[in-house]
Amino acid sequence: MLITVININFKKERLFMSKLLDKFMLALLVFSMLLPAVAFADELVIYSARKEHLIQPLIDAYSAETGTEISFITDKAGPLLQRLKAEGKNTHADLLITVDAGNLWHAASEGMLQPVSSAILERNIPIHLRDPAGHWFGLSERARTIVYSTERVKPAELSSYEALGDKSWRHRLLLRTSKKVYNQSLIAMLIAEHGQAQTEQVVRSWVGNLATSPFSNDTKLMEAILAGQGDVGIVNTYYFGRLQKKNPELKLALFWPNQQTGGVHINVSGAGVTRHAKNRSGAIRFLEWLSSEKAQNLFADANMEYPVNPQVKAHPAVAAWGSFKPSTQNLADAGRLQSDAIMLMDRAGYR
Ligand code: FE
Repeated sequence: MLITVININFKKERLFMSKLLDKFMLALLVFSMLLPAVAFADELVIYSARKEHLIQPLIDAYSAETGTEISFITDKAGPLLQRLKAEGKNTHADLLITVDAGNLWHAASEGMLQPVSSAILERNIPIHLRDPAGHWFGLSERARTIVYSTERVKPAELSSYEALGDKSWRHRLLLRTSKKVYNQSLIAMLIAEHGQAQTEQVVRSWVGNLATSPFSNDTKLMEAILAGQGDVGIVNTYYFGRLQKKNPELKLALFWPNQQTGGVHINVSGAGVTRHAKNRSGAIRFLEWLSSEKAQNLFADANMEYPVNPQVKAHPAVAAWGSFKPSTQNLADAGRLQSDAIMLMDRAGYR
């Protein structure tokens, strides 16, 4: 009898325990279902025309600091913008990172970015390096400047972009193709400064001085100077930096033109929050972090660029190229006048 009672009690106990276990398992299941939802809320998706090896260190640092999960795809600016446009409302992208104000402006004008107002971004990024309406923000700065052969050119012979059209440079000038957005932005900024007619004269004078047809990229242009095909050209500073890193004895140097006038043409790589961002606040927080003192060197140094935040010093290898007066014209002009620039270069015979 006693044994039966104990047995019944034992059975009851087991039943109670198993119900408790069921409840625990259910709670665990509910909890585990909630977990990804929590993580998802702080997930950020980036479309980047800046290459993976340049943005991965930033993403790693930000994730480690904040626990934010970041996924990204990289592609060239054109296909990335096409994709963003085609995806419309269904896009997963929260943030678009790309190079050249011309591309950023284009993305904004096509309605792919949304305006952001942030005291942090406005404090960290000078006004000429961001969209006045807040659709995009420059995050690193590059100069598009003159490069010359140290064997055949004295810096005193150089003065301005415009003067590269002087007779003294006949059959000595090398240019990259006019199809590249970097040159379209450069010409657009010249139009903003001088107007169409004068800029067209300048471009015609350059074309008349070309030593050979335009190159597909800045590196080939510099290699052609080294090979003696020409003596001067126009390139982005970081391409010069890459060559110099490979060969410190490079017989090339950078020249800072237009120091008495409008300053050196600069451009940016930058970012904007996509119009249909699912995580707008997360995207803004990441942008603000990218503009901060702790992230600016990570962003700029990886590609031998200049930080946009005036509080942050350039990497010593970059600073060694010397200081210069940059143009402070708003880079939105590079986008606004881009189609004018393309037509002008075509009229002037710049291919
Ligand atoms: Fe580039």
